[in-house]
Amino acid sequence: MENCIFCKIISGEIPSTTIYEDNDFKVILDVSPATEGHALILPKKHYKDLDELDKSCGEKLLTIASNVGKALMDTFGYEGYNIVQNNGLAAGQTVFHFHMHVIGRKTGGESILTWTPHNQEQEKREELGAKLKETLTK
Ligand code: AMP
Ligand code: ZN
Repeated sequence: MENCIFCKIISGEIPSTTIYEDNDFKVILDVSPATEGHALILPKKHYKDLDELDKSCGEKLLTIASNVGKALMDTFGYEGYNIVQNNGLAAGQTVFHFHMHVIGRKTGGESILTWTPHNQEQEKREELGAKLKETLTK
């Protein structure tokens, strides 16, 4: 894919710090990490986002995510890790080649993902749930 920075990283045209590679995936370190060792899992084929991704690679993708998360904990003493995956500009996606972030976390470390939990009536939840269920079963 022309002008895709991650395709250029995968082809070697742009350098990266690669920590894992196989036929289907390359895992690199993020240049602007949330925490040290912040990794990005890139499928070698260009998919814009999760909707385009060939879902048959899901099992391998999750296995790599778990292995990288465990490696972050074993190597740097993280106590947990977040998997972050943004789809769409509104959701914070800035590189439109599917990727999964793996971010090591320590108790008391700075927060990387926050939202304000809102109160909601059960009735409203039922209404929203019914609409979503309808869309999902169409
Ligand atoms: P997202 O906002 O989910 O699209 O994440 C894109 C990520 O790619 C950001 O965290 C960037 O810091 C990272 N990034 C952009 N360019 C590079 C690069 N050349 N090498 C490594 N990471 C990059
Ligand atoms: Zn690409």
